[in-house]
Amino acid sequence: MTTFSFGDLVLLIDRKKRRYLVRLAADNQFHSHAGYVAHADIEGQPEGFVARSTMGAAYIAVRPTLAEFILEMPRGAQVIYPKDIGAILMYADIFPGARVLEAGVGSGALSMGMLRAGASIVGYELREDFAAKAVANVTSFLGAEAASRYRVELRDIYDGIDEHDLDRVILDLPEPWNVVKHAETALHLGGMLFAYVPSAVQVARLHETLADSQFAMAHTFEVLHRGWYVKGEAVRPDHRMVAHTGFLTVARLMGADSEPA
Ligand code: SAH
Repeated sequence: MTTFSFGDLVLLIDRKKRRYLVRLAADNQFHSHAGYVAHADIEGQPEGFVARSTMGAAYIAVRPTLAEFILEMPRGAQVIYPKDIGAILMYADIFPGARVLEAGVGSGALSMGMLRAGASIVGYELREDFAAKAVANVTSFLGAEAASRYRVELRDIYDGIDEHDLDRVILDLPEPWNVVKHAETALHLGGMLFAYVPSAVQVARLHETLADSQFAMAHTFEVLHRGWYVKGEAVRPDHRMVAHTGFLTVARLMGADSEPA
């Protein structure tokens, strides 16, 4: 890995494991309760460099992973957590060149995962401020090439989908069942619908609509991620965890005559 340059994103981690995301700029400083670190002190250093603030606090400097960036980036809407994004990439089978319709895009966390997996995304989003934030986050972390595969339109997906022959329709919004009919005409046969919803009532409603559609192989699951505390003889699960985020549902478009699975 090359050393840090001005323009690079850097994650600074203090002794209490608090994290701060900064973009290095000449003449700028990172300020904290312990004085400041000049960005110029980090420029030219390798990852793992320990920066010292004017009042002596130590900060480890590393490049943020996508998961770290998602948790620290500017957010409007609630983001999908990295643990769920990882599962979505695999179970909604996002591949290089996949033609994906995503709604809503919110802060762009899930978009970033799919773009990095090589997808091309058209996003439908109701809120202009969220759309702008999503595009800014994508460009900030993934750069211009990924941003060129990402187009966000300000519109309500419940009104319909203009795209055809899509590989995937990926939903994170309150009433995904309202999109099932539109997704039937927008996807090619074998294409996949994915929906992320926080409540079991929404899962049940979605399955009712899917059962009455050309989609089959509907399947819902959740992802539990439990960290471990490892120190000397104390090797055990963390006391606290994010116990619930959302339920993940996938289904595949079949011909009208196919048997429901
Ligand atoms: N998955 C995103 C977060 C999405 S939050 C992330 O990981 O960052 C849900 C978003 O859906 C909000 O931004 C909301 O404005 C948008 N939304 C809700 N209903 C919608 C609809 N009918 N059409 C398009 N976008 C919608």
